[in-house]
Amino acid sequence: MKLGDIGEFGFIERIRKRAAAASHLLLGIGDDCAVSRVAPGELLLASTDLLIEDIHFRRGWSDMHTLGRKSVSVNVSDLAAMGGRALNLYLGLGIPADTSVEDLDAFANGVLDACAAYGAVLAGGDTCRSPGPLFISVTVEGSVPEAQLVTRAGARPGDLLWVSGTLGDSALALRELLAGRRPPALLAARHHDPCARLDLGRVLAVQGLATAMIDVSDGLLADLGHILDSSAVGALVERDVLPLSPAFRAALQAEPALLDLALCGGEDYELLFTSPPEKAAAVAALAAQGVPVTQIGRILPQDHGLCLIDVQGRPCAPPRGGFDHFL
Ligand code: ADP
Ligand code: MG
Repeated sequence: MKLGDIGEFGFIERIRKRAAAASHLLLGIGDDCAVSRVAPGELLLASTDLLIEDIHFRRGWSDMHTLGRKSVSVNVSDLAAMGGRALNLYLGLGIPADTSVEDLDAFANGVLDACAAYGAVLAGGDTCRSPGPLFISVTVEGSVPEAQLVTRAGARPGDLLWVSGTLGDSALALRELLAGRRPPALLAARHHDPCARLDLGRVLAVQGLATAMIDVSDGLLADLGHILDSSAVGALVERDVLPLSPAFRAALQAEPALLDLALCGGEDYELLFTSPPEKAAAVAALAAQGVPVTQIGRILPQDHGLCLIDVQGRPCAPPRGGFDHFL
């Protein structure tokens, strides 16, 4: 069945029937605006991401259900980076007319599954025809108690620098896909189906452990650069303690230059955060609850800039920066 057979409103109705309800959501899909209640003392967080076919994804590389999940995860990752919880998701779609309803159902199911996993509800969106590629615009709203908000701007010299999970897996998978090879399954999963570290971000915020935080979407060094700019500080990063998965390490053995992908690759969706040294034991203890966290360096006064050192403590030249759509 083609989308043309059921039309815009037929499609919206299919989504509406499956969208969950939530106590904070007074009105969801079906009116001119979604209407939500935000708890007193909470700040409203909102973030948008655009995913365009052949720029952010290729239809042949991932199934539609997984693409739906990824569209949500990359967006929710921004909430995680501020210590927030997820409330509402809005889904804007520009759809080529020949798209099958089965593909759209699979995509919508992926979106709804991911929403459920992160505790969000699909509260609205917009649906249009695209004359070319598939466009996916996802907006998420969340909230955080005012005292728990974590921004990019709170890092102080002496703070330790931590990152969750492992780095470079997604970028290595993408490199394999672009070369026409099939990446190992674990790497492919990290690229096609990343997990937003929402629970970790919440715990860091609730326990007051993070002074600054960002999610790693454009590459470790590029995103660290944003913390350094916003906080007006410098940093030392130890190249040889970066957390790497077994699959990434195996590839690195054959090709040492791949380390650049862990430094600059992007789409890791891990949390990069700073924390005072006296809280190191509390941060390290979080690893026991699920997602590992690794200390990869520390914050310095601003005049040091960003220094990368090797295992002997010698400075090494950082590879060229992270992802930029227009450079
Ligand atoms: P309007 O013309 O007032 O913008 P629409 O006809 O575009 O309303 O949408 C009708 C309802 O369906 C709205 O509540 C809107 O949020 C929702 N909606 C439209 N497209 C989507 C979508 N892709 N996902 C979720 N909700 C959608
Ligand atoms: Mg509309």
